[in-house]
Amino acid sequence: MKSLWNNDEAAKFALSNNDLLALRVYTSRLLGQEPALVLHGGGNTSVKASATNLFGESEELLYVKGSGWDLVTIEAAGFAPVKLDVLKKMAQLEQLSDSEMVRVQRAAMTNPNAPNPSVEAILHAIIPFRYVDHTHADAVVTITNTENGEERIRQIYGNRVLIVPYVMPGFILAKKIYALTQDIDWAPLEGMILLNHGVFSFGDDAKTSYERMIELVTAAENYLEAKNAVLAPPPATAAAKENLLTLARIRKSVSALKGAAVIAQLNTTPESLSFASRADVVGIGTRGPLTPDHVIRTKPTPVIVGDKPEEDIVRYVEAYCEYFERNTDGQLTRLNPAPCWAVWPGFGVISFGRSVKEAQIVSDIKDHTIEAIQMAELLGGWKALPEKDIFDMEYWELEQAKLGKKGNPLTLQGKVALVTGAASGIGHACVEALYAQGAAMMALDFSPTISTLFGKKEIRSMLCDITFEENVQRAVESTIRHFGGLDILISNAGTFPLSERIAEMNPDTWDYSLAINLTSHQQLLKACAPYLALGVDAAVVMIASKNVPAPGPGVSAYSVAKAGQTQLARVAALELGELGVRVNVIHPNAVFDTGIWTEDVLEKRAKHYGMTVEEYKTNNVLKTEVTSKDVAALACALVGPLFAKTTGAQVPVDGGNERVI
Ligand code: ZN
Repeated sequence: MKSLWNNDEAAKFALSNNDLLALRVYTSRLLGQEPALVLHGGGNTSVKASATNLFGESEELLYVKGSGWDLVTIEAAGFAPVKLDVLKKMAQLEQLSDSEMVRVQRAAMTNPNAPNPSVEAILHAIIPFRYVDHTHADAVVTITNTENGEERIRQIYGNRVLIVPYVMPGFILAKKIYALTQDIDWAPLEGMILLNHGVFSFGDDAKTSYERMIELVTAAENYLEAKNAVLAPPPATAAAKENLLTLARIRKSVSALKGAAVIAQLNTTPESLSFASRADVVGIGTRGPLTPDHVIRTKPTPVIVGDKPEEDIVRYVEAYCEYFERNTDGQLTRLNPAPCWAVWPGFGVISFGRSVKEAQIVSDIKDHTIEAIQMAELLGGWKALPEKDIFDMEYWELEQAKLGKKGNPLTLQGKVALVTGAASGIGHACVEALYAQGAAMMALDFSPTISTLFGKKEIRSMLCDITFEENVQRAVESTIRHFGGLDILISNAGTFPLSERIAEMNPDTWDYSLAINLTSHQQLLKACAPYLALGVDAAVVMIASKNVPAPGPGVSAYSVAKAGQTQLARVAALELGELGVRVNVIHPNAVFDTGIWTEDVLEKRAKHYGMTVEEYKTNNVLKTEVTSKDVAALACALVGPLFAKTTGAQVPVDGGNERVI
């Protein structure tokens, strides 16, 4: 572990108003940058400083990390200012409930708009150093999660640290340390090791406290190396097997138990693959989490899936419910029992989440967990905390509060979509509308602009000419590989050929229109169908055209293809309906905010009909302009719950067309 302290950088921070707090922000971010120290909201830091209040009186305050802030991005506003004497008094109480603790800490803040102080605020307050840093360093926790962990810690640190056996964080931990330290001299101490939990370091200046953390963790890393408890790079030779249909089945099964669609991220890195393929993975993989606070993200254990993944997942859920019943006091409400990650021997590791972000957090924690487990095995055996301690943490209301108040989920949260013709017009609008409703997706287009258009983890894009069947297959497989399944297909890509009457039809015009406007949709549907059948309330929307019910002269190449696409959708509604997949058709008309309709073309067309551009754009029964966004909103509705019981329908979005009506 290297110190990232840089005098010039530190000086830049310290120039700002409150120097002590500014340096606290600086070194907190240094800790946050290192995932082997803290992950996703883990760890906390504080600084003690005096401030002058409104009445000119000086007050001693503890600025402690506020809940909901991440160390890597924390700002001064992320630290809650709490009166130090109140916190110190709280440590002397015999008993204090969690809700009382939160209430009194909040009442002792000098800024009511600051976030809630960390659950470790009291502990930070009683440590008699100006700066206190706390992490869940992998190396330290790995060593403490073994047989004889405490003895090993003693060997490594001697009297440099205070060693604290595991107890619940919060008031109980603060109280325990308060009792342990009544008669000791803090001065020679550099930190504390909390068994099965993490490390505290402290000092009277920011640099000392931070660098002590680095030194303490480095000592643990050196110990692991000296004991040969370091993982060799996994063999790169073994490639993961691939079974995308089974992956989609696993996702469907987890979604069903979760009661909502999830993203399933398959990780096939050599590290994940070699862990998943260990002969002893069932034994070592299910003993418990790396640190108890991971449990809210990952549950105590992953599910190990084999040849019959659905049965494995059901058994996992039963075991989770039994674990709950064994440990509940009868007052608690059981959390959703679906697994958060899966070990899939031979194939890799899968992380689940209601969003790509959530699945990624699980995946990051899993990476650190599987490394620690295997290192601890080399050190004499991985030993997680007893089940009861894990349970208490999982069901601790203050820990659950970290996950934030969950509002109503978005309509398409956790759904996976595939959109063609996604770089412009209706396809582009569909991508944005689906994203806004919570879906993750693959966006395809044959325009190279697609690769830089979206820039979001939830939207993967792929350059793809969908008239080639193998390209389509590859794109569909890539979607499954990244998100675990497919629920929504927006079959949109199309072309509007030059107007040619039947007598003068150029065969190339005809063939090209049929290839893009009809055959590509058929090939795409064929490639998607097996995955849609394993989707969560799966639905297809074909973007067809007003030309189907109301064709015009000179556009047979277009109208015939679109009529064929519509008929394809109707047959698909019949065939896929048995599998629970809905197929509906949208007939847009006169959508002018697309690539082909430049101002110039619009003016010419309007003039041709003796209209102004405005009149031409709103030439329909409702006298309204139809935009790509309108079509996308309808597509989103059709794949959502509103149309859950509609299939085989053709819905116009054209402002009303007399010939269609
Ligand atoms: Zn902690």
